[in-house]
Amino acid sequence: MHPRTLLALAGQQTDGAYNSIVPPLYQSAIFRFEDLGLTKGFDYTRSGNPTRKALEDVLARLEGGAGAVALTSGMAAVSTALALFDAGTHFICSHDCYGGTERLFCHLRDQGKLEVSFIDLTDLHALTEAIRPNTRALWVETPSNPLLRIVDLDAVAAVAHTRGLTLIVDNTFLSPVLQQPLALGADLVVYSTTKYINGHSDVVGGAVIAGSEALNERLQFTANAHGTIAQPFDCWLVLRGLKTLPLRMKQHEENAHAVAGFLTRHPQVADVFYPGLASHPGHAVAARQQQGFGGMVSFAVRGGRDVVNHLLRRTRIFSLAESLGGVESLIEHPATMSHASMRPEQRAAAGITDSVVRLSVGIECIDDLLADLEQAFDVPAPSIRSAYRAATTPTEATVGAVT
Ligand SMILES: *Cc1c(COP(=O)(O)O)cnc(C)c1O
Repeated sequence: MHPRTLLALAGQQTDGAYNSIVPPLYQSAIFRFEDLGLTKGFDYTRSGNPTRKALEDVLARLEGGAGAVALTSGMAAVSTALALFDAGTHFICSHDCYGGTERLFCHLRDQGKLEVSFIDLTDLHALTEAIRPNTRALWVETPSNPLLRIVDLDAVAAVAHTRGLTLIVDNTFLSPVLQQPLALGADLVVYSTTKYINGHSDVVGGAVIAGSEALNERLQFTANAHGTIAQPFDCWLVLRGLKTLPLRMKQHEENAHAVAGFLTRHPQVADVFYPGLASHPGHAVAARQQQGFGGMVSFAVRGGRDVVNHLLRRTRIFSLAESLGGVESLIEHPATMSHASMRPEQRAAAGITDSVVRLSVGIECIDDLLADLEQAFDVPAPSIRSAYRAATTPTEATVGAVT
């Protein structure tokens, strides 16, 4: 089945009782035994729930995995994946990974539970140099956040597999519609389903998909033992969101292309980071391993924080908010928002300066999105701050920060 068909039918045929087209919501913590030692497949929702299973089955099929677990957040997915490994394991991780992932790695390292090296994984020499006798896993985010660097998954999978390392890919930025890490050599795929997979900004959730039966067995055990599983209603909402994922990704990408093109021509933009641009250093690799370039666009502004602040206060359709992957467009400042949890030295190493702005481009009409950016950029030079103050009424200045 084509992924579009698989997703449109997501969860159908899971209702043996009444043949409902929409998968039923089993909002029940407990299931009655038929007889001593005999259940209908479920006994207690932490260990298994039919609504959660419907979501897990679709995710595993989409990725071509042996199994999946749906978890209570993307960070629960990250911590459940890390919990698969023994104490003292050394991990190698993308140096520009999600801020919360970096924070958790450092927290567990400081507690003496694991070791971690943050490496620029576009540099294969640096990767092989970082491998230690106790290295067991490689943690990759591609495209990375927020600068959308591309890691060649074929190349890192070759290194991982010759050295016996488990390759874990956080595929949140693309979703299974635009990249299938297991087919490119990954062993585990991690998602924040909060983002594109659910796509409607109304659920915080996560998932891990295992490539092999052996890993899946450990994964199911760990999710149940740690109790990081997702609630039935959240799974039901994510299943509904999934149905339109291919359509949404198509529109996100079309809009992101147009926004990236607009930004490259704007005099107040110094740099645009979008893998769909031929000038992006990862463009060729992205074109090979992805089925599209996604809906995230970042850029560096000329003129520093004054211009950045002006822009963040002035957009009306792009909401000033963290997160990404919902149908509505968002704008944010990585250095003080999404990546504030990252240590400053790590942020600097990853190239996340104060001038970088990140957009999650939604599915709105592109004319409205471009008009919104155009008016927001209309920066009164030369002294932006004083000119901004003079040009806005007190009411506008107070509401400006949140709209
Ligand atoms: C948001 C995000 C996470 C964490 O997910 P939550 O659902 O917020 O816990 C992990 N990885 C990436 C790439 C993300 O964007």
